[in-house]
Amino acid sequence: MSEHTKYLLGEGKIPHAWYNIVADLPSPPPPVLHPGTGQPVGPSDLAPLFPMALIGQEVSAERQVEIPTPVRDIYRLWRPTPLYRARRLEKAIGTTARIFYKYEGVSPAGSHKPNTAVAQAFYNKEEGVAKLSTETGAGQWGSSLAFAGALFGLEVKVYMVKVSYNQKPYRRALMETYGAKCVASPSNETDSGKAILKKHPDSPGSLGIAISEAVEVAAKNPDTKYALGSVLNHVLMHQTVIGLEAIEQMEEAEAYPDVVIGCAGGGSNFAGIAFPFIGKALREKKSVRAIAVEPAACPSLTRGKYAFDFGDTGHLTPLVKMHTLGSEFIPPGFHAGGLRYHGMAPLVSHLKELGLIEARAYHQNPCFEAGVQFARHEGIVPAPETTHAIRAAIDEALKAREEGKSPTILFNLSGHGHFDMQAYSDYFAGKLEDQDYDPKALEASLAHLPKVAAE
Ligand SMILES: *Cc1c(COP(=O)(O)O)cnc(C)c1O
Repeated sequence: MSEHTKYLLGEGKIPHAWYNIVADLPSPPPPVLHPGTGQPVGPSDLAPLFPMALIGQEVSAERQVEIPTPVRDIYRLWRPTPLYRARRLEKAIGTTARIFYKYEGVSPAGSHKPNTAVAQAFYNKEEGVAKLSTETGAGQWGSSLAFAGALFGLEVKVYMVKVSYNQKPYRRALMETYGAKCVASPSNETDSGKAILKKHPDSPGSLGIAISEAVEVAAKNPDTKYALGSVLNHVLMHQTVIGLEAIEQMEEAEAYPDVVIGCAGGGSNFAGIAFPFIGKALREKKSVRAIAVEPAACPSLTRGKYAFDFGDTGHLTPLVKMHTLGSEFIPPGFHAGGLRYHGMAPLVSHLKELGLIEARAYHQNPCFEAGVQFARHEGIVPAPETTHAIRAAIDEALKAREEGKSPTILFNLSGHGHFDMQAYSDYFAGKLEDQDYDPKALEASLAHLPKVAAE
């Protein structure tokens, strides 16, 4: 076993291809359906929203999809990202386990999200698109796409969930620094936004509403396409650079993970670290436990229904089969803004149904406690989203001590929390509640799931 604290790869080790787990699954995921006809959508249905190259990736069954050279060249700005052994944390909690973490916070925007933002901006530019529209919650995705747009000369318009727009002015300033335009959602700029404001003038907004606004803008403007920061198959695939690098780094560390952990909002950073290891397990019978960790106040994987649903509140998107809380579900305003989505990636949901992954949910106070403990021993202040993965990693490590076992645990440190310090201040002031979702609201929201003949 190697003695290093961090494992660094040279730029030559940036992967040349993304990994598509569909090629290794025992059964393919269900198709995406047109809400009007209930039939699978074709490329022409999606063409107003996405460039053809990404539509092709969305339905691809190829195991490897080559990373274009211009994308790989931009990845050089921060990839390969470091893998750390959490030696100080291990010692502090007195565990017999080995804990490793992959650190995606070294990207310019501070999270894993530029891995797909750069790829999406590239393919849009290639196909002559001038403008991108998107939504953002806490602002991590908006700032990542703003960064990617700046590098490729694309105009970027971001609809930011209103509560976060007001809570996180520095994320907004970051988007503007990269040249993007950012508006609070619901806004008066779109029909979907106006409809919500008419009914609820004080609406705090939600990711589902902001997606409706961004999709509407792309659908109505021929020079504009839409970009999504998680959930879709091509987004999850772009994130697999995380796990592919981690496989090499774990080899350098002369270790292999028994458990791989990621927090899960839409599912992309979890898929990014876990899918390459699950793929190895499927091909080489090298077993691994993969754990997706979500907030107890927005528990799509652990409490949602596996059903066809809309991706947005305004019902402009196609229907995807996923673990969902219902597209009208508005989660309480807890601090991990990036985990406040009503659904889960269809691929992550499919793997859950196949029994290939586990899921668990935590309240926010125990997560912040783990985040603070991590910062005091490892130095990095994690994003509120990431603290969910750290909570699970520490719990697995403590369980190992009780059971007298010494497993190897790997988690994805999806981003740093430098723009989220208000959340930490609130935590230290004892102002954070361990909110639960409202079971009545969930029941009502699930009662409105679209009826699909195929089910
Ligand atoms: C957006 C975000 C997440 C959650 O999104 P996924 O699609 O589930 O990865 C997690 N961590 C950070 C730091 C984020 O910015």
